[in-house]
Amino acid sequence: MWQILLNRFKQGYRTIPYPKSVPSFPKRYRGRPVDVKGEVNLGELLFNEEAPKGDFTYSQDHRLAVSKKEDLILKDNEIKLARALDEKTKRLFGRSLKLRQVCAGGCSGCEAELQVMNINVFDLGRFGIQFVASPRHADGLVITGPVTKNMELALKKTYEATPHPKIVIAVGSCAISGGPFRGSSEIRHGADQVVPVDLYIPGCPPHPLTILDGLLRVLDKLDKH
Ligand code: SF4
Repeated sequence: MWQILLNRFKQGYRTIPYPKSVPSFPKRYRGRPVDVKGEVNLGELLFNEEAPKGDFTYSQDHRLAVSKKEDLILKDNEIKLARALDEKTKRLFGRSLKLRQVCAGGCSGCEAELQVMNINVFDLGRFGIQFVASPRHADGLVITGPVTKNMELALKKTYEATPHPKIVIAVGSCAISGGPFRGSSEIRHGADQVVPVDLYIPGCPPHPLTILDGLLRVLDKLDKH
């Protein structure tokens, strides 16, 4: 018992001070492309391939979330990051946002990153954001996976069961464009082929801080912590 308490004392306070400061990423981390020649579609990028020589280089910038699908096209290094919700919706969701997660056929990589956001390092709950079991108790959906044909009806029903107003968030390249499954006849190539999407968070999978950045951006909470 004393040993457990001693170990806990030695561990100290583990929650990162984000967003007051951004922790450094390991060298191998691949964030937002920079020095882009031509254009890059962030929604299709898997971030696992070497950048085609001269076309762009990966930076360590984790900020990738956008509000509109067309904003996923990165041209001349410009990115229109996600905008805050309108005042009325922000007042409703700003202090408490309950989300229902729908895995629509992905590889579980994105779900693992979403799970990690609940541990003490990221501590999603301190921002008033929480995952709930039922869409009827939710303010919005977080969708991962390319939406397989088998999951299409389940996604539609979950969307309909979520009360208005609601926010829909597509997390990961699969949920935005089909990701590595693009071209398959068994998928719908992204959540917005089935339900309207308000926030696109690219990555395969996105880093937890990329997801957190998107959520705090729409809630207009980035400068307030
Ligand atoms: S975007 Fe990548 S990590 Fe996420 S579900 Fe699809 S394949 Fe897996």
